[in-house]
Amino acid sequence: MNEVEMAIDVRGLRKVYGVLEALCGINLQVKDGEFFGLLGPNGAGKTTTLNVLSGLANKTEGDVTLFGHDLIREYRNCRHLVGLVPQEFNFDLFAKVEKILIFQGGYFGIPVEECKRRAERLMVQFDLTDKRGTSARYLSGGMKRRLMIARALIHNPRLLILDEPTAGVDVDLRRSLWNFLQEINASGTTILLTTHYIEEAEALCDTIGIIHQGRIIEVDSTRNLSNRLGCETVLVTSEQPIPESATRQISAYDPAVNEDGHEMQITFHKGQVPYTTVLQDLVATGIPISSVRPAGNRLETVFIELTQKDASYEE
Ligand code: ATP
Repeated sequence: MNEVEMAIDVRGLRKVYGVLEALCGINLQVKDGEFFGLLGPNGAGKTTTLNVLSGLANKTEGDVTLFGHDLIREYRNCRHLVGLVPQEFNFDLFAKVEKILIFQGGYFGIPVEECKRRAERLMVQFDLTDKRGTSARYLSGGMKRRLMIARALIHNPRLLILDEPTAGVDVDLRRSLWNFLQEINASGTTILLTTHYIEEAEALCDTIGIIHQGRIIEVDSTRNLSNRLGCETVLVTSEQPIPESATRQISAYDPAVNEDGHEMQITFHKGQVPYTTVLQDLVATGIPISSVRPAGNRLETVFIELTQKDASYEE
């Protein structure tokens, strides 16, 4: 069996800014073709990690390879392997869309005719053909975001790195950017992104790494992380006010009814009580149930638990 190639292999990576240790010896492995999310609170070290991987910051210590190429010794190879989408727009706002794409190809030594062909393809892929002759400053926020991603792909990188690609964008635009990223990943490009939006990591990523105070405190599949909570809390909505007799009947689930009496939160231990039993017990109360849904975002709860636990070890 072929061994899976690692797109990113980071061992003992440290980054020190003056007296501040931003990365305290992190290990991180991302498989070829994976969609990996790096999640962490402000100042955790996410951007620093991306900056080291994309050559914008020098590592203090540790070993980094990208698709088997050493980040320092094979610097040029590594630059070609990575497309970076930084958080802030950093193209020339007075340049036109097509020119921005073609110009970027020039940095990678791609002949101009080939750059034009690739720019054309990317403008189609990112719905920017109508804007080819428009100065970047006249693009909407969403178009600018798409241009940033298109530009990062002009040299066909095998790894696309995005720093909070949807920070501050509205829900519609976020969804459309997610679609673009899913398409790029489906076509074989490995993606590493950082985000504050847990919902985003949950929707897009195969694997999530949680970074806190310069250390990776958890790496697991998105599904495993979401399922990690021992307790499950669900919201039950009723067509009629929920009577006390019903809550008494299911007191083992610690029911809490809201003010108008139509919604109730119940909690149970997933390992001990199967979902079917919970549903049977609910039906047995005779409440006219109109919906049963999970309360809150489970991954968010796991994230908060992990980062708080990690912080309490420090004390
Ligand atoms: P955010 O979510 O707020 O963007 P982050 O997880 O990306 O945070 P980093 O930007 O990597 O965090 O910062 C990690 C730590 O390193 C922070 O304490 C930050 O102040 C510090 N830091 C980052 N860049 C520099 C720099 N160029 N010089 C000095 N300190 C820096």
